[in-house]
Amino acid sequence: MKVYIDGKYYNDKNAKVSVFDHGLLYGDGVFEGIRAYNGRVFKLKEHIDRLYCSAKAILLDIPMSPAEVTAAVLATCRRNDIRDGYVRLVVTRGAGTLGLDPNRCEKPSVIIIAGKIQLYPPEYYENGLTIVTAPTARNFSNAVNPAIKSLNYLNNILAKIEANIAGCEEAIMLNAAGYVAECTGDNVFIVKAGQLVTPPLYAGALYGITRGVTIELARAAGLAVTETNLTRYDLFNADECFLTGTGAELVPVVKIDGRLIGTGKPGPVTKLLVEKYRALTQASGEPI
Ligand code: PMP
Repeated sequence: MKVYIDGKYYNDKNAKVSVFDHGLLYGDGVFEGIRAYNGRVFKLKEHIDRLYCSAKAILLDIPMSPAEVTAAVLATCRRNDIRDGYVRLVVTRGAGTLGLDPNRCEKPSVIIIAGKIQLYPPEYYENGLTIVTAPTARNFSNAVNPAIKSLNYLNNILAKIEANIAGCEEAIMLNAAGYVAECTGDNVFIVKAGQLVTPPLYAGALYGITRGVTIELARAAGLAVTETNLTRYDLFNADECFLTGTGAELVPVVKIDGRLIGTGKPGPVTKLLVEKYRALTQASGEPI
């Protein structure tokens, strides 16, 4: 594998950053997780735009233009013969001193890793996931806003550990007010009386690109979509529930905190949207 770091390519064994990089010392940086399907990078512009929004929110000046980062992502995919794969795009604050102050960091580093994706096993899509609610609350938007896709993922990792302890892959995270925010690496949707409902972004979620695509696909299929606060009660009593994310795509959820959702099997609306999403990933994207 050839890893891109600041304009050069390195073999994976030699792809390294400084131990003084504030990305390592403090989680000071931003990232994106992007998929390639069928020789195209899916929703690349949306990912690049979100990267720059995350960077703006933490006053990180990416030392390349969006067009240059886009070109570098595509070039790294070409170098690694990627047709179907996963791209991790990272911008760290760069090497600095041991203090917190980002002003003492020399220059942000841009890293691009293009490789294989570890997919959820097919039975998760056929039978649906069992998940739990995490005791750890999602970050408060006035602290580290969950909309920032930052290198500081401890909030999510704590919830992931809690999911793992419960024998699950994912966990629902509630915000400080007790409303559903999102999962550790996915956004959440329910289907109720034929309508799609998802928490509003201000509930404390990443502005998920798969979430946005799902809303568009649903509306194009004539389904109503509303963004409104949800409680665990609403999840338990939904007809269907599914999660969305670049890695997971759309994955059905059939049990939450011991409560069966709907029939306990992936529902028809979820199945329809899974199909539509898969068709779109195969047929669109930025050619590599
Ligand atoms: N929420 C969190 C916390 C995430 O890390 C992600 C991305 N893995 C998502 C939601 C889904 O976002 P996207 O659809 O853009 O991948």
